[in-house]
Amino acid sequence: MKNHQQPTPKPMRSTMKNDLNLAIAQKIKISNNFLIASHVRPDADAVGSMLGLGLALKKAEKQVQMILEDGAGKYSYLPGSDCIDQTPRGNFDMIIIVDCSDPGRVGQVLADYPQPDLVVDHHKTNLNFGKFNIVEPEQAATAAILFNCLPLWGLSIDAHVATCLLSAIIGDTIGFRTSNVDAELLRKAAALMDYGAKLSDIYRSELVLKSFEAIRYWGAGLNRVQRQNGLVWTSLTLEDRKKSAYPGNDDADLVNVLSAVEGTKIALIFIEQAPDKVKVSWRARPGIDVSKIAFEFGGGGHAAAAGADIDGTLEEVKKRVIIETEKLLEENNFS
Ligand code: 5GP
Ligand code: MN
Repeated sequence: MKNHQQPTPKPMRSTMKNDLNLAIAQKIKISNNFLIASHVRPDADAVGSMLGLGLALKKAEKQVQMILEDGAGKYSYLPGSDCIDQTPRGNFDMIIIVDCSDPGRVGQVLADYPQPDLVVDHHKTNLNFGKFNIVEPEQAATAAILFNCLPLWGLSIDAHVATCLLSAIIGDTIGFRTSNVDAELLRKAAALMDYGAKLSDIYRSELVLKSFEAIRYWGAGLNRVQRQNGLVWTSLTLEDRKKSAYPGNDDADLVNVLSAVEGTKIALIFIEQAPDKVKVSWRARPGIDVSKIAFEFGGGGHAAAAGADIDGTLEEVKKRVIIETEKLLEENNFS
């Protein structure tokens, strides 16, 4: 019989019980009124991380306002999403921003409350704009950082908190498919299931189900898809949203379909926000880093997924961004 060597499980790369976490735990302990916010056009990690933390604080009998300038969008299936507001009211002892790399991305909230006490994030382009910053770019989701931190901050995880955190992890990894998924993340997901999160329900709500309107919206974008030198791109216009009755101002995750096209090095999508403003999303295959180009256009993100809001008409922005993205491929000799 072959002698199989038992693999030694790697120790958890968990956020450490260090002075920073002790100071945050102390600040949480003495605070009663919390404001938690995340970014405009929220994704699963923004909503799930905010709700996971917010529900854990509420369970510790804290007063919590959770703010998303664009509302909860399609994430209304998550526990606690009915508590999400679009504008904060009152005074707060502690302001926490999750999953945002720069203050501008939070929207209007930080115009009224400009100095966050704590920023928790995993974007490599994070500007460390809080008094305390927990920024860990090696983590696949902000929720994976919170999984480590909540116990260190004296907060507990129940089935609702676990559902929000697992939904966030599934969203940012597109169902554990991204190259930053490791055994540790899967162990966290397993632990969240032990706390009561239902994997198949979350997977279905987060990644499988699409509205009829979203599919019609995709149709408009798929109709004009283009390819050149390893780039695959398309655009979505204000007119497309009107015709398909799609209620959001995002791409309904169409960019993930483009990045699945064989031979794609970088997939891009251009989403018209106004006649002179365009949201751009980049998705790179492993080994290519698009966070820097997004940052240069005023946005940010990760090596594999980044975005920016750019001033200009759809045609102008498309032209500029495609030229610069082709240059990125050429200069770095990405084959
Ligand atoms: P998406 O393209 O799906 O909007 O975002 C991809 C990644 O880039 C996400 O992690 C998102 O938070 C980040 N990102 C997208 N747009 C912006 C932006 O305008 N500014 C910054 N800082 N990050 C962005
Ligand atoms: Mn995230």
